[in-house]
Order: sequence, then C-alpha cells, then structure tokens
Amino acid sequence: MKKRIALFPGSFDPFTKGHEDIVLRGLQLFDEIVIAIGYNSQKSQRYFEINLMMGKIRETFKNYPNIRVEHFSLLTAEFARQNGAEFLLRGLRNTTDFEYENSIAQVNRNLYQELESVFLITSPQFAWISSSIIREVHRYKGDVSEFLPYTLDQ
Ligand code: ADP
Repeated sequence: MKKRIALFPGSFDPFTKGHEDIVLRGLQLFDEIVIAIGYNSQKSQRYFEINLMMGKIRETFKNYPNIRVEHFSLLTAEFARQNGAEFLLRGLRNTTDFEYENSIAQVNRNLYQELESVFLITSPQFAWISSSIIREVHRYKGDVSEFLPYTLDQ
C-alpha cells in the first residue's frame, strides 16, 4: 500500500509542546510526517535561528524514524508535491486559526488537487500556547522551558 505522508508546515519560531502534540497525534493517521519550516533567508526575520530550531526539533523526535525535519522556501503545496506528501497537517486552536486555515486550505487545494488538509483540534492543555507569546516571554528573559519539548541553552 502507498505510504501516507503528511507535511506539517509552519514557522515554528519556536516549535512548542502544542506543535509536538499535533505531530504525535498525527502519527496515528500517517506513516510518515515531514515537519517543514517555511523559511526564506531574504525575507524571514526569525527570532530563533533556523538551524538551531531544526536541531531542536530533530532532537525532540530522534526516536521516531518516520519523522523528518526540513525547511523550504517555495509554495507549501509545491514542497508537499516534491516530498510525495498528499496530506497537509495543521492544528486548530480557535476561530482565528480556523478563519486563516480555511482560506489557505482552499488555495492549496487549488494548487495541488491531490493535497488534502487535515486539521487536529488542539489538546486543551496546549490551547493557549503560541510561538509569539513564547518569543515575548523569552525576549524579556522569562522562563519558557515548560512550553517547549526540548531545552534551550540560553
Ligand atoms: P504558521 O506561521 O504557519 O501559522 P506556526 O508555527 O505558528 O506556523 O503553526 C504551525 C501550525 O501549528 C498551525 O496550524 C497552527 O495553527 C498550529 N499550532 C500552533 N500552536 C498550536 C498549539 N498550541 N496547539 C495546536 N496547534 C498549534
């Protein structure tokens, strides 16, 4: 049978326990998950450096041979096609996420008919975790360790 490959795209600036939860639950549905950081070195202003974050995500899933970590700077639908992924995995926390995800899912489907977006509703204990809040706390030297599935050195 054909492998069911899902792409989990995002900025992951940083990757949080909310993201980890979506990936682990996604493993119940897919044979392989490609976690992909959308990143354009000319345009992206990241807070956490791309290589640092890729390393941390790899470390988080080091015991999962069916999880890969990549970065990309092209259309998400095109990157999915190049990776043989027929599913886009995304998480939904609230209606704001829904409004946003709804429109990108339509666009992606138009770009690549075989691409099915699959949404997992956040687990309640992670619903309020957002990368932007973590960046803000970290910027002012607050402790963010409880929101991350790995440790940051600084
Ligand atoms: P993007 O910049 O594409 O929105 P993010 O890194 O912010 O990327 O998020 C990637 C995906 O993870 C999105 O589908 C987002 O809704 C989802 N997500 C973010 N935080 C959580 C969370 N705490 N619980 C569940 N899903 C989440």
